[in-house]
This record gives sequence, structure tokens and C-alpha cells, in this order.
Amino acid sequence: MRELLGGKGANLAEMANLGLPVPPGFTIPTSVCNYFYDHAKSYPKDLKAQVEKALAYVGKLTGKTFGDPNNPLLVSVRSGARASMPGMMDTVLNLGLNDETVEALAALSGDKRFAYDSYRRFITMYSDVVIGFEHHHFEEILDTYKDSKGHVLDTDLTAEDWVEIVDQYKDAVRKETGEDFPQDPHAQLWGAIGAVFGSWMNARAVTYRQLHAIPESWGTAVNVQAMVFGNMGETSATGVAFTRNPSTGAKQLYGEFLINAQGEDVVAGIRTPQEITEAARKDSGSDKPSMEAAMPDAFKELTRIYTLLEKHYRDMQDLEFTVEQGKLWMLQTRSGKRTAKAALRIAVDLANEGLISRKDAVLRVDPASLDQLLHPTIDPAAKRDVIATGLPASPGAASGEIVFSSDEAAKLQADGRKVILVRVETSPEDIHGMHAAEGILTTRGGMTSHAAVVARGMGKPCVSGAGTIRVDYGRGLMTAGGRSFKAGDVITIDGGVGQVLAGRMPMLEPELADEFGTLMGWADEVRKLKVRANADTPEDARVAIKFGGEGIGLCRTEHMFFEETRIRTVREMILADDEQKRRAALAKLLPMQRADFVELFEIMQGLPVTIRLLDPPLHEFLPHTQAEIEEVARAMETDPRKLADRARDLSEFNPMLGFRGCRLAIVYPEIAEMQARAIFEAAIVVNKRTGKAVVPEVMVPLVATKAEFDMIKARIDATAQSVMRDQGAQIKYEVGTMIELPRAALMAGEIAKTAEFFSFGTNDLTQTTYGISRDDAGSFLGAYVSRGILEIDPFISLDRDGVGELVKIGVERGRKTRSGLKVGICGEHGGDPASVTFCHEIGLNYVSCSPYRVPIARLAAAQAALGKKAEGQA
Ligand code: ADP
Ligand code: MG
Ligand code: MG
Repeated sequence: MRELLGGKGANLAEMANLGLPVPPGFTIPTSVCNYFYDHAKSYPKDLKAQVEKALAYVGKLTGKTFGDPNNPLLVSVRSGARASMPGMMDTVLNLGLNDETVEALAALSGDKRFAYDSYRRFITMYSDVVIGFEHHHFEEILDTYKDSKGHVLDTDLTAEDWVEIVDQYKDAVRKETGEDFPQDPHAQLWGAIGAVFGSWMNARAVTYRQLHAIPESWGTAVNVQAMVFGNMGETSATGVAFTRNPSTGAKQLYGEFLINAQGEDVVAGIRTPQEITEAARKDSGSDKPSMEAAMPDAFKELTRIYTLLEKHYRDMQDLEFTVEQGKLWMLQTRSGKRTAKAALRIAVDLANEGLISRKDAVLRVDPASLDQLLHPTIDPAAKRDVIATGLPASPGAASGEIVFSSDEAAKLQADGRKVILVRVETSPEDIHGMHAAEGILTTRGGMTSHAAVVARGMGKPCVSGAGTIRVDYGRGLMTAGGRSFKAGDVITIDGGVGQVLAGRMPMLEPELADEFGTLMGWADEVRKLKVRANADTPEDARVAIKFGGEGIGLCRTEHMFFEETRIRTVREMILADDEQKRRAALAKLLPMQRADFVELFEIMQGLPVTIRLLDPPLHEFLPHTQAEIEEVARAMETDPRKLADRARDLSEFNPMLGFRGCRLAIVYPEIAEMQARAIFEAAIVVNKRTGKAVVPEVMVPLVATKAEFDMIKARIDATAQSVMRDQGAQIKYEVGTMIELPRAALMAGEIAKTAEFFSFGTNDLTQTTYGISRDDAGSFLGAYVSRGILEIDPFISLDRDGVGELVKIGVERGRKTRSGLKVGICGEHGGDPASVTFCHEIGLNYVSCSPYRVPIARLAAAQAALGKKAEGQA
């Protein structure tokens, strides 16, 4: 009954129903919180009477009476929302104590020191959370008092000391508020209940809810529970424990406890807590006894209970308990938070132990968290000196010397140095520098800027859009927050969180434990969607295979052109002013492209490979400097001035909407012909060599009309015929198109008449649907998200409503014309779990994502097949 009772209340009730030792208590449900806010902060009429009745019953169970000056029931008041929520009111313990009942507690326990220790704790907590008189005031009083006694410790203070301190506390409250500290236990109780409900709307809680998408309508519950005391001397204690190790997942009780302590003392760091198990004590080398040694009976009881709770909840639990004079009491249980590594191990172990099914295990691991496992991370124990923050564009962490140019990066790397490439932004010309660098930092650009996309594809850490950093290329300097760093200085970037740090950081290398393979295997058994990788290089393809990719969904041929040795020939081709010169340059490129494809096909061993024809704006290949122009002119034996003119003609204002995609092949069909020839010739070579038939899928980008597609397809088909004739061999191939313009999605029915497959390029489709250029979106998208106009950056997670609708239309209309049309998606979204869920729902055949995200997509696809909804969906 989590919704009504909150997480804490529901689990306390559940533990009580299981017959576990839980101090008796009751829960005021979340519905009262909603009533409270709907009715000018007042309570339902009958609440008071019900609380009285419940209190009386708790009194009966404990043999005490709330407010009784001789035999008082003391309680804790604890908030508890549906979802665990830091930011809510802190717990008040020992409520019901006053000048009279504290004496009764002393008499009944025979321990005056304990009674006044409890009272001073109560005054501190109540004042802090109900009256708003913060606890540091009390700490100051206590410190001054201890100093006056010669710097003694809390444990050295006697009953008389605490009596004196309690007096000073009450004086301080009176001075601050003008009133005595409340003595009436009933007034105390309603004060605390009101504070819990009031804290639902405090700033911290509101922010937390916003960040975690927790609806305000959920409300919080209030738990009132009889006190048990961990501060009753050496046979009492309080502690916290995880039923398994939350960072490694190992099956071992993991936690800490403190003798003669109460509440949050264990986690507050006032005293150093002790280990629970003897094994852990030995590991830590601590000379203080473990709970196992100091309180063997309570430890045995804890072991019995935690085993039972794990079986009952079928998950690793996070426990809070107290031992009162040797007797163990359970105060909380909930599913424990854990690292990705632990999540994986625990899910697999629980399934192997028979506590959950394999399907459950698949559903237990958050796909996005796998990122943590596939890349090096900064040692969490290391201290971070953060220089600036940007976007967490590509996960993993790396340290290296700052370099400001790609050429410099390549040069230093060749000398065996490790570098971080720092750029305002990157362009396709930086590929070699990005390859050479350990990580990439840009000051502009968003999550799908060039740097971000390419870095993710390479599996390299990247922080993009770190806007507070100023880069001065001329002086080889970057400044941030008043500090400056020059080329050669060492920095570290953490692409998982978007931080830039000074200096080198200690790293933890990723290790793929056996559980990883096991869980992925279970995921593969249930998923329907195929998972391919976007791979441009043999290296990418190998990584894709290693991570279980089932083909290449997108091979971007242009990346093969940016290599230093080839870019000059590419420029010759572009700048040629007639077809004959262009064909001459293309003839030089043909063997290079063919060799690329041969290598790729061989690695992919007959798995499908989709190759996209040249797509980027020609603009991106143009020479920029005079030296570059002269170099090309020499190779082409033409006048550099003529060449400069031609380059100027070709440069564009808005290249993303310019001369690119299939438009290149329409105007210069010989480019498409060369690429098609390279593909088919390579397929024949590999077919002969490996005996595994390659079926290349040739993909035409940025199509808006069927006529465009048909014209290019005719060229490709003719090339295939001619290659087969020349080589005397047969090959199978398919020609399809990307759907990445709204018009193409709408006209999908027409286009599918001739297109043999579709692949949704959702990066461009998002750009063109929103009319937002992703390279320029950095300056305002953040504000859109923080102001709630967009729930999430649509370049990160596919916009189901708008862009998604176009995808749906495209699939429906396409398949209506050509039943069984194979449809995939190859944008960045292919590796985003929520988008993968969407792709499953609308019946795509596959998603294609960067090689390092393949495991994430496999797991997300499996969860979608098991019916898990994407976040934010009903
Ligand atoms: P949080 O939500 O911050 O964990 P809790 O309500 O769990 O706050 O209270 C914090 C701690 O206070 C508990 O872990 C437990 O040690 C102590 N505590 C709460 N209620 C009682 C009680 N009835 N008897 C003894 N200790 C209690
Ligand atoms: Mg707790
Ligand atoms: Mg595109």
C-alpha cells in the first residue's frame, strides 16, 4: 500500500505482518497530505480522534501511555513519501519528553544519563525541524560546555552534565522564540505532524520532485512509532545495513553500527561507526569489535531477518535497525540503491538463486546505467577540482595534455603522449585529432553536436558546450573561472557528468564481469528488435561485433574521405569544374573506397551492412587556407585563383539545408556511381574470399521525393549490372533510402514503391521537424528544458508526439505499399532506451546506434518486449 502509506510506512507494516520485531506505530496516509493542501492547511475532522485512538492502542501494546507523567510512551515522527525523497522533514525522535516525563524515563530505566541524553536530542531535533531553530545553535552550546570541562567527549559527560545542557538548550529556545519549549506532548505531536506535511512544499522537496518527475499530488505520509532506544548503554546500538554489497553486488551483509547511539548517529560521522560482520572488521583492520562479536544474539537475529526480507521482497534491501538492551528492532527496509555493476551482479545472482525469473532480472537493470561499465571512470574516492562544467556528451573519463588543434593532437599522440583535444567546436576535419585524443572538450555545441556524435561513435569521453571556458587559439590558452591553462597542461574530463577537472585523476578501468554476458544473453532471448551499430571504420565494426551488434545500420562513407591522405583527392573531385576532371579524381578514390568496404565486409561475416552514399555538405570539404588551395591546385595543375573562386562559389550559408545528401548524387551522379562500384566490387571480393554472402544495403540520404530516389537508384542498378558483367559474378543487394525529411515521411507510400528499405535518420528528422539546427541549439535548448517547454532535449530522446508521429506515418505508409518493408532507425536515438522502447512499439525491425551503446539498446529492446514502458509514459 505504498501509495497510501508511503514507502516507509508500507514497508514497516509489511515487516510487522511478517511477524518481525517492529516497534508498534501507525501511519497517517498520504491522502491526509492532499486534504491538508486542499483545505488551507487543515485536517479532516475526524483525524484528531483517530490519532488519539491509534496512540492509545500503541500505548496498550507497549504498556505505556502517551503523556503519562509516570509511564510515558515516547514516539518518533517520521515522514515517508511514495518515492524515497531527501529534502523532506527530518525525523523527530523521543517525542513526548518534557521536564516531567524525562524524570519518569530516568526512574524507569534507572539511567538518568540516558534519559537526559534522549531529552537533549529531542529538543535539538524538534527545535530544528518544527520550530525552525537550527541545530547548529545547540551544537555550539554543547561545544562550549565541553570546552569548559576541558575538551571532553560526549561519552565523558555525566547525567548532571546533560541536565545542565538541557537547561541551556531550553533557555536558548526561550530567547530565540520568546516562548518556552513546548511541554505538552500532544502539542508536540501535532507540531511534528504539521511540520511533516509542511515540508512537502518546502523548496528542497519541490526542487527534488521537479528533478525526479515526482508529482506533487502524491503527498507524503506521517509515521508515528513507539521509540526503542539504542542509547541505553553498552548493550544497545543503532545501525544500517545492505543485504548485499551495494558497490560490487557481492552476497555479503554490508553495513555499520554504533554502540550506545541513536538515530542518524551512524551516518552523521560524529563517531566512527563499527563493522557489522567479523569478516568486514578483519578487512578494515579496525580494532573495535564487530556487531557479530559484540552482540552475537542480535547479530544472529539480524541475519535471520535480512535473509527473510530478501526472500520476501526478492531484492537487495537497505535496512535500518536498533538494538535496545540486546533486543533487535527493525526500523526500515527498502530496495537498496546500487551501482550499475552491483545491479547486474545482484540481478543475475537473484535469478540463479531462484528468487526471481530471468525476465525479472532483465527488467531489474537500468539500460542507461550500462554506460558506467563500458568506459573508464574516475576513482570515486579521488578529490575533484572542477574547472568548468558542460554537457555529459559521451561517457567515460580521460586525462591528458591540453591541445588546441587536431594536427597537434595527432603529432603528440604519434610521440606517445596522451592529449585532450580542446576546441570551440569540431568539424569533420578534426576526425584525425579526435582519433588521436583521449577525450574531447568543446565550449560550444550540444549533445548532438559534431563533437558529441563522433566521440560517442568512437567511444571516447566528451564534454561539450562548456560555455564558461574561453579558448584563445592564438595564445594557446584556455581560461575558466579566473584560472588559465595553457597547451601542455594536464586536465581530466568526465564525460559521464560533464565535468572538466584540473590535473590528472586516478581511473578505474572497465571490466566486463561474467554477469554482463549472462544478462545480455537473457535479454537477447526475449527481444524482438534487432540491434545494429553505426560503424564507419573497421575498428568501429570490431567493437560492434564484440558488443553483440547484428549488423551495421549506418556506415557513413564521408568519414573515409577525411583521412589526411584522401582529403586532397576529395577536394580535387569537388573543385573539378567538369565531369571529366571529376571522374579522374574519383578514379583515384575508387580503390581506396573498395579497400575500406572489403575490410568492413570481412569483419561483418555476412551480417547486413548498410552503406550510405556521400551525405555531408560539400562545404565541409572545401579547403580553407591559401596553402590548402595551392596544394590542390598543384595536384590538379590549375590556377590557384580559379580554384579559390570555385571554392567561394561552393561555400554555403546554411550547409545543413544546402548542397548535400542525394542532391550531390543528382548533380554529380558519377560520385554515387563510384561509391556503388566500390561497394559491389568489394562484395564480390569478400564473397569469393569468405564464402559468406554479403548483401550490401545501399542507402540514399536526404531524399524528399520519389523522383530523386529513382534517378539515383537507376544509376546504382546500372553500376551493379556493369560490375557483375565485368567480374562475371552475381551479387544480391538492396537499394533503400533514409527518411529524414518530413516530406519523405509523408510521401513514404510513394517512395516505398521503389525503395527496398527505410532507415529513419532521426537526427536530421528532428532538426527538420523542429527547424532547429543541432549545432546551434546549445544556446537555447537548455533554457527550453529548464523552463519546462521541452521535457527533454529532442536530440537525446526521440520526441514521440511530433517527430515520432512522422516516423509512425512513414512506417505505416511505407508498409502499406510494400508489405514487410524492412525499417530501422539510425539516429543517435537508436541508443537511447526510451527511444528504443518507442521503436519497439511501432514495430521497427532494428535500431542502429554507436557501437558502445549496442548493449544498452539490446537491454532496452528486451525490456520493451517485456512490456516495460518508457519513462514518463502512463
Ligand atoms: P530517514 O527517512 O531520513 O531515513 P527515518 O525516519 O528512517 O529517517 O529515521 C532516521 C533514524 O531514526 C532511523 O534510521 C532510526 O535509527 C531512528 N528512528 C526512527 N524511528 C525510531 C524509533 N521509533 N525508535 C528508534 N529509532 C528510531
Ligand atoms: Mg531511514
Ligand atoms: Mg542525415
